[in-house]
Amino acid sequence: MRWSGQLIDDGGDGDDGGTSADGAAPAQPGLFATSDVVVRTFDTPGFRGATFYEVRAKSVLNKVPGPSPMFGWTINPYRGCGHRCVYCFARKTHTYLDFDAGLDFDTRIVVKVNAVEVLRRELARPSWRRESVAMGTNVDCYQRAEGRYRLMPGIIGALAEAGTPFSILTKGTLMLRDLPLLTEAARDVPVRLAMSVGAVDEDVWRTVEPGTPSPARRLDAVRTLADAGLGCSVLMAPILPFLTDSPEQLRATVEAIARAGATSVTPIVLHLRPGAREWYYEWLQATYPQLVSRYRALYRNGSYAPSWYQDRITAAVREYAKAYGLVRPPRSSARGEAAGPAREATENPPGNQAGNPTARATEVQPTLWDDVESA
Ligand code: SF4
Repeated sequence: MRWSGQLIDDGGDGDDGGTSADGAAPAQPGLFATSDVVVRTFDTPGFRGATFYEVRAKSVLNKVPGPSPMFGWTINPYRGCGHRCVYCFARKTHTYLDFDAGLDFDTRIVVKVNAVEVLRRELARPSWRRESVAMGTNVDCYQRAEGRYRLMPGIIGALAEAGTPFSILTKGTLMLRDLPLLTEAARDVPVRLAMSVGAVDEDVWRTVEPGTPSPARRLDAVRTLADAGLGCSVLMAPILPFLTDSPEQLRATVEAIARAGATSVTPIVLHLRPGAREWYYEWLQATYPQLVSRYRALYRNGSYAPSWYQDRITAAVREYAKAYGLVRPPRSSARGEAAGPAREATENPPGNQAGNPTARATEVQPTLWDDVESA
């Protein structure tokens, strides 16, 4: 059977209005039990142009390979993401499904419709050791599709009932829909929440993260979570060279994060791995062509900006975080030391990739920006 085999013209169920099928027929990806695949499109503003591939997953608890200091397991109820961030590092994973890493990643969303049922089965195994489970590590679990499929309430409930701690990293203010559930879960198990806000510059946001709630709305959500006593850290990521990295922009973003009541802020500079790199450069050429050569110079050694640049960003964010009361002095100024206490600017938030070079502690130092352009 191919993906198009059970294309559905959904008649709408009240919240989606009318529908239309687009007849898309990508190749069979081979990762799911494809005899159960149903392909849907919905003709509502939030979903127009998107195709949803409803699959029945064989497993939803994924073991993170190797030792991870933060979490051993992940759950990803979706593949692809309607938030459409041009830099998204998960784009390459869509090619494993025989989709492309560009427009297909944004508009062809795989939904594991049986995620809750499979999760409950997996959590009930006697061998389950209640290790922490992270969500939002690949694509956003509170992306737009979650508004329709509502998988997260069942997942949260299943984890809490099974005594399993969990963390969520998102750009989706939709997480607030589940605030009562999260509050209830936090009474039974440790719950760690993080919001991703790379910058508060709305002009850049509109073009680089076109499917996401605005930074202001995301920070409002951080405030709501803080007021509810749940606490929420902020992953200040990605910081975009030459677009959101000026001292003024960094300061404004850290100030807004602090005012929102975040428990910590962690800066991460843009990385451009294959899959994301091509899409990002295409967008850069179309939107900020004058920056292309500067990016090629800064990323000439591969997927990461040079360490001196990353250190400078981390130092600046730490300095501003201290100024706005968001960070305590580090226990040691030694470079590469593990993250410090809870309100540390370099604390690893939920879902942060283990070993990310930007997540290390860096002592506060003067910030000089003159030589960035000649990198
Ligand atoms: S919200 Fe996260 S997963 Fe979704 S496109 Fe943006 S960076 Fe990727």
